Amino acid sequence: MEDSRFYTLPKLPYDYAALAPYISEEQLRLHHQKHHQAYVNGANALFEKLDKARKDNTFTDMKATLRELSFHIGGFMLHNLFWENLAPAGKGGGGVPKSELAKAIDGEFGSIDRFRKEFSQAAASAEGSGWAALTLCRKTGRPLIMQIEKHNVNVFPGFGILMVLDVWEHAYYLDYRNDRAKFVDAFWNIVNWDVVGQRFDTLRR
Ligand code: MN
Repeated sequence: MEDSRFYTLPKLPYDYAALAPYISEEQLRLHHQKHHQAYVNGANALFEKLDKARKDNTFTDMKATLRELSFHIGGFMLHNLFWENLAPAGKGGGGVPKSELAKAIDGEFGSIDRFRKEFSQAAASAEGSGWAALTLCRKTGRPLIMQIEKHNVNVFPGFGILMVLDVWEHAYYLDYRNDRAKFVDAFWNIVNWDVVGQRFDTLRR
């Protein structure tokens, strides 16, 4: 039985083969079933550890536990956002942003093309394992790129996330070996701009 106090692996909004050739079926299946699942399990194990310590009135090493929890929850949440902001090429994936989001991107970056280049560079240069994210600063209304290391380092508190790209090696090693830049190029064919636009509309209210 599912316990709503713990995380569960969400189903993908498309088939495992749907993002090919940009992400192969085997690559997507592994990424979802093994890697994303590992963050679900990791976070839940830490919740259990905290629950047990509270029940027994003992204390875990708070620093270590909270560091691990931030890593696993960050990984869990970012993957949820990632799957949702992808769609099969030509069937919701690819193209360009629309309406208000398009205006905001043009206003901040000058053009969609310039934004794409900045985002691609952020993704390609994320140190070690990490993510590129398009975020929204709700104070200024500015869309900003955030380069996240691991799942939780360099995160700007309070910024809403519009779009993420996973550039951990586990996201592309079967399809692109060590060529992260090639995977980043492929990503633009499967961005679900409708979902990114909906997130933008929700966050700016
Ligand atoms: Mn991943």
